[in-house]
Amino acid sequence: MRKRIVKRGSRGFLIGLLLLILAVCGGCQGEGQKNPADENTGLGEDAGTKAPAFSDDRGEEASNDSLTVWFLDVGQGSAALVHQKDSWMLIDGGDKETSSYVVSFLKQKGVTKLDYVVISHYDSDHLNGVVGVLNAIPCSQVLAPEDYGTDTKIYDSFQQVCKEKELAVSHPQLGEEFAFSHSSFRVVSPASYEYEEGNSNSLGIRLEYEENSFLICGDCTEESEQDLLYLGVDVKSDVFAANHHGSRYSNSPEFLEAVSPNAVVISCGKGNSYGHPDASVLLSVQNLGADLYRTDLQGEITAASDGKNIVFDQEACMDYRSGPELREEESKEDDKDSGSDIKLFQEEVRPYYGEDEQLSEEETEQPNHESVGEDSYILNTNTKKFHKKGCSSVEEIKEENIGYGSDREELIGMGYAPCKRCEP
Ligand SMILES: [Zn+2]
Ligand SMILES: [Zn+2]
Repeated sequence: MRKRIVKRGSRGFLIGLLLLILAVCGGCQGEGQKNPADENTGLGEDAGTKAPAFSDDRGEEASNDSLTVWFLDVGQGSAALVHQKDSWMLIDGGDKETSSYVVSFLKQKGVTKLDYVVISHYDSDHLNGVVGVLNAIPCSQVLAPEDYGTDTKIYDSFQQVCKEKELAVSHPQLGEEFAFSHSSFRVVSPASYEYEEGNSNSLGIRLEYEENSFLICGDCTEESEQDLLYLGVDVKSDVFAANHHGSRYSNSPEFLEAVSPNAVVISCGKGNSYGHPDASVLLSVQNLGADLYRTDLQGEITAASDGKNIVFDQEACMDYRSGPELREEESKEDDKDSGSDIKLFQEEVRPYYGEDEQLSEEETEQPNHESVGEDSYILNTNTKKFHKKGCSSVEEIKEENIGYGSDREELIGMGYAPCKRCEP
């Protein structure tokens, strides 16, 4: 059953007009702004145009011009894919454990070229999957924060792939606008790239299609939120991707009020160890009367806008149990049935831990996505080999080169070869 959000207010008409003007202006804001439609040539008829429109139980099809946003289920992390007509944009890519899932999700949607890849910030639960995608799919333009002093291996890999693929990386400033098919998006955070804390430097965008809008700001912190409010940045949006996975150190009641969303989507891992989402944030969302969607409870969540209404692919969950509550429930279940393979596996192969203290919260996340389950393979992203879980070669793989995959054919398609020792 789909959920329909009716857009409030009449300012939409004016925004629509403004958008039309912007769209007509095309690339008049310099090289930062491109009309992706102009570039989609030479890739064959299929290139980037495969319709992602989903049918609902009434047999309706989302219109061809609709703007679709998929909030991917990447466990503890964030990743969103945006599509309209023949334009595609990825906003963050989740962590290492779901990197190959994100790549195959994009391929399954028919993405052969990305017009934009937006990296909110350089924490691994946002950046890791992006590196995987940039390795696999061509991209016209990468938007990312200025280097705020990141010193992690995944950041090195990011720089390396940008160099190898000769990718154009720009660091847009507050207020900059970009065209995206019939829509546009504006940079709404950060106020500057000078915050000490990495999360505060999160590059956030407000995506607009006629009367509808989506706000996605990575792990934007309360400090950053306060500055945006002080500057009077327009953050009012229909759909709000909760900041920092619903953390209590973001999503202040004042900020939520300014956003005034009709729907809030929280991307976080079920039973994560950080307390996401926080009870106080869930209470604020409840007080706002906004619909609540959660990837930890509902998996992938899809929202499609026809410019007037936004339709979700499922009912809002309206489940206000906080991360810690769910974690407690889960540990009780674990006590009942301990010793599963997945648990052992998580202890054997740990995700990369950053040295930067500020990143430790994000970086120490345990994998909890299904892709690390029983029938998964361990990848060496450096040598492009894949192994069975217990293969002795796995111990020799450097942590920063470890990846996961579950689809053998997909892996081979991505250029991976089976290990000769374990013959997966
Ligand atoms: Zn994060
Ligand atoms: Zn972060």
